[in-house]
Amino acid sequence: MSEHYKVLARRYRPQLFREVVEQTHAISAIENAIKENRLGSAYLFYGPRGVGKTTIARILAKRVNCLNPQGVEPCNQCESCVEILNGSSLDVIEIDAASNRRIEDIRDLRENVKFKPIIGKKKVYIIDEVHMLTKESFNALLKTLEEPPEHVLFILATTEINKIPETILSRCQIFTFRKVPIVRLQKYLEEIAQKEKIQVEKDALFLIAKKGDGSVRDSLSFFEQIISYCDGKITAEKVRELTDSFSVDVMLTITQNLFRVSSSNELLKPIADIFNDGGDLERFIWEYLEFLRICILIHKGIKDKDLLGLIGEDIEKIHQFVATIPFEKLFTIFDEIYQLRSKSYFLRIKNTYEARILIEVTLLKIQDKLNKPTLDEIIHDINQISKLFEGQDISEEKLFKKENNNKIVKKDFSLEDEIQSKFLGTYITDENKIPKLPNF
Ligand SMILES: [Zn+2]
Repeated sequence: MSEHYKVLARRYRPQLFREVVEQTHAISAIENAIKENRLGSAYLFYGPRGVGKTTIARILAKRVNCLNPQGVEPCNQCESCVEILNGSSLDVIEIDAASNRRIEDIRDLRENVKFKPIIGKKKVYIIDEVHMLTKESFNALLKTLEEPPEHVLFILATTEINKIPETILSRCQIFTFRKVPIVRLQKYLEEIAQKEKIQVEKDALFLIAKKGDGSVRDSLSFFEQIISYCDGKITAEKVRELTDSFSVDVMLTITQNLFRVSSSNELLKPIADIFNDGGDLERFIWEYLEFLRICILIHKGIKDKDLLGLIGEDIEKIHQFVATIPFEKLFTIFDEIYQLRSKSYFLRIKNTYEARILIEVTLLKIQDKLNKPTLDEIIHDINQISKLFEGQDISEEKLFKKENNNKIVKKDFSLEDEIQSKFLGTYITDENKIPKLPNF
């Protein structure tokens, strides 16, 4: 980890409520409670990792103990704020429940809550990953939550609310934190890039934000990795290299080849390439499934970058392709790849020859399926032929021809030939063979 990396991560940790990315729902509820002076004694922050639970807990801890608050915000300058910022405050105690889950740890906590805060008004306990506590520890914590001293504020944070006993939940005000949308994360990274004078393509930022999967912390740390990896301008291409993800172009080529009968060789080449390069075939299957989801959504007219998780240029490419194929054929591919995914997940195949075989055979099977007429197409053709048979749709050229002497005579017209020409390639057994019909 470079010095630059560490500095950047620390420098952009929000120190005020208004600096936090998103989470407006939780923040406005907290701000209202501060304004109306009705803060509770126990809060539970629930949501995915890296979205700001601990950050907001620290800002709240600073605000309740601030000697010179600025409206709803802490001043970040008074003795109390500075100590909390330095991590040296005795009034704000952070506990990681993942490593302090024993009953003794919680007993210590119960002993310590009796003592009044030293500088500020409240003794704030921030318990991170609270779902990791043992049953006994939860029971001990509950006793404190049931009769909390006036001067104590508990802020519990968790990613797994289902593991927290109902008795604890009922004592807390619960705030739900959400994943940050990709486009919002992209904007946040763009602001940082401007401040840091880092040259970076917009699409590269989008891909970094996507990799962050809704987490500000993860997006930021990935951005920092990219900065130390890239020399000069950060491009989307370089980000792709580092994420080692399969490009949309590879996925698109495979899908296009599935619709061409004669290109089995081309169809299987990308799989051989991934295998020979030591790539992760199991991840390829997962990413291909994600790609098919995107194709289906785009076919349905969805173009939202955030929802699709793709840059605009890629969306346009896929749009042009899916416009040329029937919707239900995408489902055929999706179903087959989904089954393949279940198998590969179960077998943990990664980069084995077995994985290569499974993928190759599945792709050939799909190619074969796609190039046969669908039930809808067969019904459509049968309808056309039956119209023809009823004489509703028979053009004169089909039934009559002009001879050299200008005499018009009937042509030989065989319905069986007509059916065969429509269903060329369909397998007809002796049992289901259409009986020979009389000529017109
Ligand atoms: Zn202050």
